Amino acid sequence: MPPRILVLGAGFGGLELCSTLSAALGADVDVTLIDRADAFTFGYAKLDVLFGRAALDDVRLPYRRFLKPGVRFLQESIVSFDPVARRVETDRGVHTGDHVVVALGADYDFAATPGLAEATEFYSVPGAVRLGRMLPEFSGGRVLIAVAGAPFKCPPAPSEAALMMHDYLTRRGIRGASEISLVLPFKVPVPPSPEMSRALLAAFAERGITFTPERVLRRVEAARRVAILDDGREVPYDLLLGVPAIRAPRVLEGCGLTPDGFVPVDSKTLETAFPGVYAIGDCARQGTPKAGVFAEGAARAVAASLIARLRGGAPSAVHRGTGSCYIEFGADRIGRVDIDFFSNPAGPVGIYHEPSVALRRDKEEFGSSRRARWFGL
Ligand SMILES: Cc1cc2nc3c(=O)[nH]c(=O)nc-3n(C[C@H](O)[C@H](O)[C@H](O)COP(=O)(O)OP(=O)(O)OC[C@H]3O[C@@H](n4cnc5c(N)ncnc54)[C@H](O)[C@@H]3O)c2cc1C
Repeated sequence: MPPRILVLGAGFGGLELCSTLSAALGADVDVTLIDRADAFTFGYAKLDVLFGRAALDDVRLPYRRFLKPGVRFLQESIVSFDPVARRVETDRGVHTGDHVVVALGADYDFAATPGLAEATEFYSVPGAVRLGRMLPEFSGGRVLIAVAGAPFKCPPAPSEAALMMHDYLTRRGIRGASEISLVLPFKVPVPPSPEMSRALLAAFAERGITFTPERVLRRVEAARRVAILDDGREVPYDLLLGVPAIRAPRVLEGCGLTPDGFVPVDSKTLETAFPGVYAIGDCARQGTPKAGVFAEGAARAVAASLIARLRGGAPSAVHRGTGSCYIEFGADRIGRVDIDFFSNPAGPVGIYHEPSVALRRDKEEFGSSRRARWFGL
């Protein structure tokens, strides 16, 4: 009997992990993949839904299409996890594993920003759908894109939203009647890449987008349409695109895995303090930003270790902390930055690729290759 591998969460990390294990070991592996949802949606697809470039049904990838030899998908909601016994309790039963990979992503922490839950945000699927319905009714005014704390998912996404909003309002002929403001907790839009940050700041300046660095959205008074920042400043808005703060999934709290908010791991091996338990992606402190591409890199490293173990060898693969981020610049152009977080002891190194139409095809290939590999679509 092969060892039982439990994978908690079928997001970017969980899907890549299970696909890699199945591709290498086929029916010789015994993997149970658990997720409460019935479909996966790429994070960036929320921007497409928000700006009317895609319908929700077109970007939902149903798990019933995730068919891999050796992998069993269970649509169940995890209610508790015991990392010592490697035992998971769900709304439908109990599962144990010889190896457990926690890939539960991060929960949005609406309670951290009073008023945000009653206002509007574009980071959840329902939030993006709701704002996508509101946008065609918007006749111009003050658009505010504001982040409620760091870390947050996909650091470039609020900058992308600002540039895409500029294009959207221009197309509608109401850009002149509108203001766009972006509030970020960082000094520059993409701290690991000074070149990408310079290009984004230049794009904001060219388009008349106001950038407020090193500030955090603290509170929203939706009835008055006012956002309150961490320095007490009140920013009036007509349309708010909020970005919620995040925290590790609540289900992990209290089980000893999240002593300081997220799951600490060895950044090279993704091992937690509990033997046989790994954590990857947004739920883990894996030394990289909270983005799918880095969850995927961590998943590949864990998969390689498990494959080596299952074949009777020693785990040799290490997490490299590298990944490419595509950034929408508007006008159909996309920029890219290839970032390496671990090789240089002085800090992350990014290689910047100027925005171009050719890079849009690259991003489309990034999405379509994963759709094909994971879902056969
Ligand atoms: C607007 C936006 C744009 C983005 N753009 C990009 C981009 O261009 N490139 C990029 O790389 N990243 C992007 N991201 C970030 C990316 O979506 C996340 O970082 C990535 O999905 C994290 O992968 P993960 O595997 O850690 O978690 P997730 O993909 O979030 O998966 C976690 C899974 O766990 C499941 N789960 C959670 N709790 C439970 C429970 N109790 N029981 C059962 N199942 C549970 C969830 O249903 C989910 O399927 C973007 C995000 C947003 C919001």
